[in-house]
Amino acid sequence: MKRKPKLGQNFLVDDRARHAIADALGDVSQRTVIEIGPGRGAITEILAPRAGRLIALELDRELAPALAQRFSGQSKVEIVEIDVLRADLSTLVPPGGTADVIGNLPYYITSDILLKLFTAGSAGLLSRAVVMMQREVADRVSASPGVRDYGLLSATAQMNARVDHLFTLPPSAFSPPPEVYSTVLRLHFAPRFAELGVDATGFDAFLKQSFAQKRKTLENNLRAAGYSSSKLAVSWPTVIPRQARAESLGLEPMAELYRALTSQAE
Ligand code: SAM
Repeated sequence: MKRKPKLGQNFLVDDRARHAIADALGDVSQRTVIEIGPGRGAITEILAPRAGRLIALELDRELAPALAQRFSGQSKVEIVEIDVLRADLSTLVPPGGTADVIGNLPYYITSDILLKLFTAGSAGLLSRAVVMMQREVADRVSASPGVRDYGLLSATAQMNARVDHLFTLPPSAFSPPPEVYSTVLRLHFAPRFAELGVDATGFDAFLKQSFAQKRKTLENNLRAAGYSSSKLAVSWPTVIPRQARAESLGLEPMAELYRALTSQAE
């Protein structure tokens, strides 16, 4: 079967690593697990006998039927040929419950997949995810405010989930080896919108505006997004220096500014 590099196909061949990834989800005997990009089944075959239900989403139209054939005798396993970005996760989650996610992600769409998972996590559809991605992206997801890697992806991730950095693998763990190192993260979905007193849609948009241009101060980014100088002046919390950039601020002061801006009439 021909490998399709465009689909980010670097298959995991390190036996200890694939077991460590599957083990990181813990006991899944009563859980529905959604696997993203099962490929040749390196992780699928470990989880198939363990999970209450395993639904694997694979876009490759040769790999998906081959996997479906291989797991055809296992009623708890379902292979769906679909683009994960088009999949409606709410239809895969047990009614009234949540699912867990696992995947060695196709790196060309990592950020889009993560955003989809955060949205589903905030909607109460997902509980945990164990996901492998390019090390640089994982570093951005887990970075703290003020460090070089902190940005919109970090803020969005940390509004939606607690992030555990599990381990990093060298290119030699895969066939063919990618050009980058890969890191496995575990996400515990726990949205912070209610705790910080902000609405999810409005605050997500505010974060995008705040981080729009890395070189600009937060105030200038917000001005460019249409907030007036007078509104910014009356709303600006004392805890935020006027010259601060969004990259240096934690989620609490950002939420404080957002609350002040949204409670002020023009
Ligand atoms: N899980 C396997 C492993 O660890 O060896 C394969 C991982 S490989 C890095 C990524 C997998 O995602 C490939 O099987 C690829 O075909 C699949 N894939 C790529 N784009 C996808 C998409 N949009 N939706 C679902 N699967 C996709």
